[in-house]
Amino acid sequence: MIIDSHCHLLHSKSEKMIPEIIKDAKSNDVRILLNISTQPEEFNKIIAVSNKYENVYSSIGIHPHSASLMSNENYLLIKKLTKNPKVIGIGETGLDFYYNYSEKKEQIKNLEKHIDIVQENSLPIIIHMREAEEEMMRVISKRFKEKEFSGVIHCFTGSQKFADLVQSLNLYISISGIITFPKSEDLRNVVKNYPLDKILVETDAPFLTPVPLRGKINEPAYIKHTVEYISKMLDLTNSELSDITTKNFFNLFKKTEKLNES
Ligand SMILES: [Zn+2]
Ligand SMILES: [Zn+2]
Repeated sequence: MIIDSHCHLLHSKSEKMIPEIIKDAKSNDVRILLNISTQPEEFNKIIAVSNKYENVYSSIGIHPHSASLMSNENYLLIKKLTKNPKVIGIGETGLDFYYNYSEKKEQIKNLEKHIDIVQENSLPIIIHMREAEEEMMRVISKRFKEKEFSGVIHCFTGSQKFADLVQSLNLYISISGIITFPKSEDLRNVVKNYPLDKILVETDAPFLTPVPLRGKINEPAYIKHTVEYISKMLDLTNSELSDITTKNFFNLFKKTEKLNES
């Protein structure tokens, strides 16, 4: 079985409806999906999807693109929603200085607020980082010194230097279809050097469709192409890599365990 640790079921640009996307994932052995929210408007819909489908979990947070929506009201709302049994992570949040859809200052404040929450409730944080390495390293190192927290840098595209820092904080990295792109040589080297017990896989669907399906709208079922690519690269079988990344997912998102026990 494969777990898609990061997808956006509400963002699908295709005509395909959520039930069909989930069904196709299942028939491709993608048994668990973590459906990620990006802004408060989605929170209730995200939770409704995971209430309806046993194999879909939720993460609640505000993306850096929407950082200005981090009001005190929304901060309290996120905290409240973490009590939902299917909400297993906080995010995605982070810094995106590539698009800069929100002011840098606001992005940093938004990120820090999410860290406040995970330091308090011990859920893992899902971090988005694009062209903001220095600032990200500064913020997470500073906050880690106050109190450690767990989490994942999703859709990892950082440098080796950034990967070293992330590794030293025991954080996970999640690998998307980007690794299959011809020009991702640096990323491939980072993944080869990263501890195998700290690697997750994701689609970030409907974005970032892996080779050989470029041009199609991405969906969780297509994660198998990313898994195949990484397996080959690391000299593992597909099922070995699937088992490892599945185990890693459960180690990071510990709340899933409590759900399965009860
Ligand atoms: Zn992202
Ligand atoms: Zn995302």
